[in-house]
This record gives sequence, structure tokens and C-alpha cells, in this order.
Amino acid sequence: MLSTMQDVSLTVSRILAHGSTVHGDSEVITWTDTDPHRRTFAEVGRRAAQLAHALRDELGVAAEERTATLMWNNAEHLEAYLAIPSMGAVLHTLNLRLPAEQLTWIINHAEDRVILVNGTLLRLLAPLLPQLPTVEHIVVVGPGDRSLLAGTSARLHDYEELLAGRPETYEWPEIDEREAAALCYTSGTTGDPKGVLYSHRSLYLHSLQVNTTEAFALGPRDLALPVVPMFHVNAWGLPHAAFMAGASLLMPDRFLQPAPLAEMIASQRPTIGAAVPTIWQGLLAELDGNKRDVSSLHTVIIGGSACPPVLMRGFQERHGIRVVHAWGMTETSPLGTVAHPPAGVSDEEEWAYRATQGRFPASVEARLIGPGGEELPWDGQAAGELEVRGPWIAGAYFGGAQGQALRPDDKFSPDGWLRTGDVGTITPNGYLTLTDRAKDVIKSGGEWISSVELENHLMAHPGVAEAAVVAVPDEKWGERPLATVVVTEGSAVTYEELQAFLGERIARWQLPERWAVIPSVPKTSVGKFDKKVLRRQYADGELKVTRLG
Ligand code: ADP
Repeated sequence: MLSTMQDVSLTVSRILAHGSTVHGDSEVITWTDTDPHRRTFAEVGRRAAQLAHALRDELGVAAEERTATLMWNNAEHLEAYLAIPSMGAVLHTLNLRLPAEQLTWIINHAEDRVILVNGTLLRLLAPLLPQLPTVEHIVVVGPGDRSLLAGTSARLHDYEELLAGRPETYEWPEIDEREAAALCYTSGTTGDPKGVLYSHRSLYLHSLQVNTTEAFALGPRDLALPVVPMFHVNAWGLPHAAFMAGASLLMPDRFLQPAPLAEMIASQRPTIGAAVPTIWQGLLAELDGNKRDVSSLHTVIIGGSACPPVLMRGFQERHGIRVVHAWGMTETSPLGTVAHPPAGVSDEEEWAYRATQGRFPASVEARLIGPGGEELPWDGQAAGELEVRGPWIAGAYFGGAQGQALRPDDKFSPDGWLRTGDVGTITPNGYLTLTDRAKDVIKSGGEWISSVELENHLMAHPGVAEAAVVAVPDEKWGERPLATVVVTEGSAVTYEELQAFLGERIARWQLPERWAVIPSVPKTSVGKFDKKVLRRQYADGELKVTRLG
């Protein structure tokens, strides 16, 4: 029997309408090299309508058309976030840190016809244009050297001129909530990048979840600072969620270095921030060296790769900021787990819970699969590959405009669950601990060594600024760990000391014999440790490796 309830589509246009009226006074503040720029949600709503008119009437953007942004986190990007899906097109966020070939591949695969680009990024886009046959319009947002685009066959527009004088309201179409709203490609660490097509429904439900106390609890008293880029899984859903909850947004634009971040926190007083560990590591070092008032921040969300416990403690003990660890991926929108400890635990247990990847919400079902394909118990011991399903989890990849959705076997189980490629354990009360990515686990003589565990211990040593551990081939054991470390400035720590330090914390057979000091850990386009570069450098003999007996 069908229910008697109303069937209202959960669409981005509803988030837009709500945020720009009920929370019309909330603000989006964009950091600049002069004064921060402020715009209310009401203005964002009006400008989103103008943008939609411009895209439809002037540029001919049709329903379902992928419309790309190559932009930093700023107010105009938020306008595009809301306008493009609301008019029935698909917002395609481009990762500005990808190598040129990958960016070209992605734009061609998505068949983008219009690209909105920050003027400061024209240098990046211009050389790609001859290889982008589908791109007809380039909309330049903000200052930048437009002469870089001389000679292109695409039509050039200025964002502000395009919007000027257009109607400030738009008759947003009624859209089926299952239609595509946004497109984001994974960074393609293995094989071609893969496009995840979010639906209106998935974005809406994900936003509701982001705003629960189980996750980040955004509300109208918050000022949220998404340092995580808007091209990286929709800045973890924060722009949509903030607009829905009326939480103001502080957008860092291109000022992502530790010093300007510290300055914007001290002067604008955000309450909550989100980024990958490397960003917060930089900020912590900056604050330790040059203290600023960052007391407004009650929460710092860390995800994207494992958060070293020492970073968590550093923020809490030296700056009074609570770090909340979370896990997710492009395919999971990304909210998968959030590490809030349960009630009634001791101080020590609380820290242990906070160091896990966190707990699953009701909408993310999880299971662990063992090496033989069997389902493993949630006993906090058995480690297997994590599989998930739920209303904001991808069920396939975008196959291109004419192509069929892609469901590779290594990414989706026969019964439709997403294979995350992450290996870990789950406690009976639903806390996930990741021990590794399946491809980073060190398989030594039939046993698994967690590279993440070794890294976390190493980074807790005062002489170590960063550490990355990778598997290298070994004649006797198959694979053994190679520990690469970046030493803290001025430190004279030795490999023997580090090995002894590890020896007090992990089993003997897990201790790395191979060690190398490196100037910095190579990072991927979204700031994660790029272990494939280290593996290649080792294979090519580029690392100066010392072997301890
Ligand atoms: P990519 O796969 O290109 O790195 P994603 O941003 O989608 O792009 O990365 C998702 C992956 O990042 C996860 O599968 C997991 O391996 C890792 N990850 C994300 N959050 C965490 C975390 N809190 N702890 C450990 N690993 C994490």
C-alpha cells in the first residue's frame, strides 16, 4: 500500500530557495589579498538566478549539459554550485591540481561546452584549449590576464558582465530528484579518472546528514571554513549543507598557505574548518611558531587520509581545538564515518575512539569482506575490505555522454555494494578503523603490516615532521616496509633511534629495515601522500636507502 505522504523532489533548487530566503542574512566571505569580500545568501540567491538566465539565454546551456568550473573556493563558485544544478544542468567541478593530460581527458570525457574559470587560473586552462574540441564558451570570473586566451576559438565572457541586468529570480524547473546534479572525477591514482554523478537526492540527503550532530552539526551561528577545495568531492558537501542550515561560509580562495589561513581564522573567527591532514599539519606548525587567536574554532574536521593522533593532540593540547576525524571518498559524497566517541567512556577510551575513522550513520550500511570473499564479523579484530551502500553512495561511474554507466568488478560487488579498496576492522558498536588502502598494505611473509600504523608512530617522534611507509619487494618475505621520513628542522635523529622508538610500540617482525630521509613526502593533487611516486623512486634507485641489520 502506498503512503499518503506528499512526494516532493529533494532538489538543489530547494536548498537554494531556502538558504537565500530563510537564511538570507547569512554570509559568504571570500578572502582576497586586500579586504575580505562579503556577500549575503540573499545576494547569492539573486546572482544564482542571474547566472542561470545568462547560461540558458546567452550561452544556450540545456538540461543535462555538463557545465564546468575551474575555480577556487569563493562566492562565485557557490553561485555556480547552486545555479547550475537548479536549472537542470550538471555542475562539473574540475580539479585544478591535476596534470594537464588528465584535466584534458576529463573535460573531453564529460564533453563540457562551458567552463567558468577564475582569472587567476587562466594560465592553467589556456594551454589545454587546443585539445578541447567541445569547449565553446569560457566565462572568466575575477581579475586575471585575459590575453592568455588570445587565439582561442571559444567565445570569452566576463562573469560580472554576463550577469549584469538579468532578472534576479528564475523559474527553477521541477526536476526528478534522481537526475544528475553534479559530476566529480576521482583523481585517477590507478587507471583513467572515473566520474561520479551525484543526484539531487543524494546531495540533499547528504546535506541533511552533514548537519546532524552525528556529523558536523552546522547551524546559523556557525561560520564554516572549507579549506578542502570545492573540486574535491564538493568540498565534502559543506557548501550545500551550510546553505541549507544558514551557516555562513568563509572561503579561502587561493590563499591556502598556513600564514594566510591563520590570519583569516584570527580575523574572521570561523567556528568550524575542514581539510586534509597536510593542511592542518602546516597550520599547526604555523601556530606553534607564531601564536594567533584561533579560539573561535571549536571543531576542525580532518579527513581524506588518516589523521595522525599526534596532530589531534597537538591542536587540542596547545590550541584548545577539537579535531574530528572522518572518512569518505569521492564515491561516498563523501560522508562515510565520523569519529565522535560514544557516551560514558573514560578519557583514554575517548581518545582511542577519536583516532578511529569513526562511526557509520544509519544511511551508510557497511560490511567487511575477507580474502576468500567471506563476510567478516564486526569484532574490532577481523580485517577485511570495506564495502558500503546507501542513498549517497555511487552505484556506478559516468560512462560519458553516450556511454553506459560503468560498473567495474573491482569497484562494485555483484550485489551492488561499493568496494572501497580500504582495509580495516569494525567494532561491534560500528566504529571503523582503517589499517590501510588495499594497495598500500605491506604483505610480508603471509602477514599484513599496516603502513598507516607505522607512519602514525613515526610522526609521533619529535624528530620526524612527516613519514610515509611503502611496501618494497623483498626476496625472503615477498614485501617489506621502507620507511621514508622528513626530519624536523634542526633535528639530528638517527635511523637507529627511530627503529628503537618503533620497537617499543609495534611487533618486532613489523620493524622496517630499510630507511630513507627525503626532503618532503610527494603529494597527490588533493594533498594526500603519493606513495606510487615513492615506490617508483625506490625502484629507480633515486632514494638513498640505508639498511639496518
Ligand atoms: P582518491 O581515491 O583519488 O584519493 P578520494 O578523495 O575519493 O580520492 O579518496 C578516498 C580515499 O581516501 C579513501 O578510500 C581512503 O583510502 C582515503 N581516506 C579518506 N579519509 C580517510 C581517513 N580518515 N583515514 C584514512 N584514509 C582515508
